[in-house]
Amino acid sequence: MTFIRPLILLAATIFVAFACTRQQSPAPEKGVSFALNQYRKQHIDSIQYQIELDIPAGKAGQILGKEIVTFHLNAADSALVLDFNVEASHLQEVRVGGEKVDYQFVNEHIVIDTKHLNKGKNEVAIDFVAGDQSLNRSDDYLYTLFVPDRASTCFPLFDQPNLKASYRLTLKTPVGWEAVSNGKLNAKTVENGKSVYQFGETKPVSSYLFAFAAGKFFKETRTMDGREMTMYYRETDTTKVNRNRDEVFRLHAKSLAWLEDYTSIDYPFGKFDFVLLPSFQYGGMEHPGAIFYNEPALFLDENASVNRRMARASVIAHESAHMWFGDLVTMDWFNDVWLKEVFANFMAAKIVHPSFPEINHELRFLLAHYPNAYEVDRTAGTNPILQQLGNLKNAGTLYGAIIYMKAPIVMRQLERKIGEELMRESLREYLKTYSFGNARWDDLIGIIDKRSPEDITRWSNVWVKTPGMPEYGIEAGKLVQAKDSVSGRVWEQPLVLKTMQNGQLVFPNHDGTGYGYFKMDTTSKAWFFTHYGNAEVSDPVFKGAMLVNSWEGLLRGDGPGPEKLVNSILNTLPKEQNPLLVDYLLGNLQTDWWVFLNADQRAAYQTRVEHEIWQLLNSTRDKGIQTSYFRAFKAMALTDDGWQKMHGLWTGKLEVKGLVLSEEDKISLAYELALKGNGDGKAILNSQLNATKNPDRKARMQFVIPALSASEAERDAFFETLKKEENREKEAWVLDALTYLHHPLRAQSALKYLRPSLDLLQEIQLTGDIFFPTRWLHNTFVGHSSPEAARIAQTFLKEHPDYPYFLKNKILQATDLLDRSVKLSATYAPQEHSPALSQQ
Ligand SMILES: [Zn+2]
Repeated sequence: MTFIRPLILLAATIFVAFACTRQQSPAPEKGVSFALNQYRKQHIDSIQYQIELDIPAGKAGQILGKEIVTFHLNAADSALVLDFNVEASHLQEVRVGGEKVDYQFVNEHIVIDTKHLNKGKNEVAIDFVAGDQSLNRSDDYLYTLFVPDRASTCFPLFDQPNLKASYRLTLKTPVGWEAVSNGKLNAKTVENGKSVYQFGETKPVSSYLFAFAAGKFFKETRTMDGREMTMYYRETDTTKVNRNRDEVFRLHAKSLAWLEDYTSIDYPFGKFDFVLLPSFQYGGMEHPGAIFYNEPALFLDENASVNRRMARASVIAHESAHMWFGDLVTMDWFNDVWLKEVFANFMAAKIVHPSFPEINHELRFLLAHYPNAYEVDRTAGTNPILQQLGNLKNAGTLYGAIIYMKAPIVMRQLERKIGEELMRESLREYLKTYSFGNARWDDLIGIIDKRSPEDITRWSNVWVKTPGMPEYGIEAGKLVQAKDSVSGRVWEQPLVLKTMQNGQLVFPNHDGTGYGYFKMDTTSKAWFFTHYGNAEVSDPVFKGAMLVNSWEGLLRGDGPGPEKLVNSILNTLPKEQNPLLVDYLLGNLQTDWWVFLNADQRAAYQTRVEHEIWQLLNSTRDKGIQTSYFRAFKAMALTDDGWQKMHGLWTGKLEVKGLVLSEEDKISLAYELALKGNGDGKAILNSQLNATKNPDRKARMQFVIPALSASEAERDAFFETLKKEENREKEAWVLDALTYLHHPLRAQSALKYLRPSLDLLQEIQLTGDIFFPTRWLHNTFVGHSSPEAARIAQTFLKEHPDYPYFLKNKILQATDLLDRSVKLSATYAPQEHSPALSQQ
């Protein structure tokens, strides 16, 4: 509720400052500030880009660009700011109305003085060298990925989502290359030994959705339901392509037909193609008319599991849904980025789920979303779904579990609240009203509120605009909201409660749809675990919901405590055959084990844990479950016997029926053996390195090995190297190394890395990928549970009272389990650790 007001106030202040300084020295800040975004939105429209890029063969040569931007200005009293985030040498010449003009190139912007501008139509022509940063160049192909503000790293433009524009692109490529973009291909000719692709004018699209790919691609065109579609791909295995392509076309046709029916709006962008790229960064990216996909997600292996097949159908439905939700109607500013993602998932579920009746979609939704959302939302560093964003260059900080995991839950609650029909009607009006334009979450809420008898604005103000999760207790047989951190806040949602044995047993939120912490009494919790697998405790969703309640209870100190939970989970696992529930139980077991039990407590259970998981690994027939048990055993085994078993699996002398180990599995076994062995780690790692065939995996191993060294001095030296940016380039490798560097077995010696790791965080945010700061912190703190570690983080925050808001939150999120563990061990350790329990 307090969200919108400060944002407007802040914007107004910045805006005034900007307007005043503009006259003397127009120096807009780096990136696209909210103020610049607002200013341009108010003054510029009817934008058209005509872009020509000359792409050489190979990945190194310069790409020369020519561009003509035409637009309409409703006032010519201030300098024009175009975004171009490259080195100064990339900018060659700027002409306005055909005349060469002086300009300033400052803070990633081209600034053109008012004296060159007209009220009304303007034409700016720019000669430049395209920036490579977001072109993903390989020797024989390249592709763009401009989300969220990376188009300006390639060519000059107004790089903000609410200045939609039409694009006319011409690409000159080496002969033999294909080319595809949002617009329809109008002509392909050959000129001076190069192919020239001329694409037709696009419909109005946001800059982050403009895209092209060029290079050596195979292609295939089909007509589906009267619509022509071309698939571009790189896969050379024709058997694989033949096995998959019919289904890939069919899934697209089905998704588009479903969406046209649901929205009652025809596919908005004319032509429809898609491009499959071998190591695309995401599952897919919804460029209108030219969706890009990660190739392996669409071309499946033989015998692909039902989960893989559903994931493929889902990503296709997701990107197709974006053509309406995101592309036709786009967020006004990136703080609403969550909305298009939620809608795309929401539609994808409706499109895909009926085709997979063998999957329990309710259980899947529960375990995929709720625990991950709580992991952030229960922390002091949580954020609301709708956040402030002062500058587009920080858009990456918005992404996280709250928008990916909590927002879908909230959207599902909304549909249940207002009904499927009113939801569909509201969405139709929203799409129709804002077609080819932009809209905010509040615009949609306004439409729904008008139609619904309920106060949807009030509901949205709590669920979308404030952070945190409600807590519930039971009073007089009813669920009641516990004291909230924000006084007077009411979390409206339907709540259910199941009672048994004349109300003596109470199971809150038994259908798993409510969001929050549902406190259970000890008797009901104990009964649930002892009757697990019996007829009364057999419904998978009920089991999932109660397990989530128990876990959240553990973290809040609501008994029976970490040791007893290990005991309960070990008793429960043999009674569970559902892979989703087995995974959830094993996840909780391992977190409980490493974060909440101390070394003595673990030692008391060590033999039993290894023995039981080994039994389960050997007795299960389900391949997926077997893999889960293998991973759990590998992570938890520590006795001589456990080490010997792992060693046997690694050398191949020991076999588990049905278990096939990949090269990846062998590598991680070698890591665990080195970590837990007695001095022969180096030999094992070297032998694995020599046996590893895949060159990428070999290089990754070489990087990670020093972090596993038995010598503390070597590990210290390795940590020192991470302070240099060039050593953090392969982020996935760094994250692997961090988990071993900070492994709980070595947490004591890793304490000294914590402070420098925090000191590096701001630099890491600047130099790394959008998810890297979160993952860096997570993998750094995940192995620690000591009061010293908790104190280091607290001291750091105390010493930096003005630390950036987003990063401070990330630290609080990453250290939440650590803080809880410190608090809990003070509560439980003395009473609970009894030899009697350990010997069970
Ligand atoms: Zn998406």
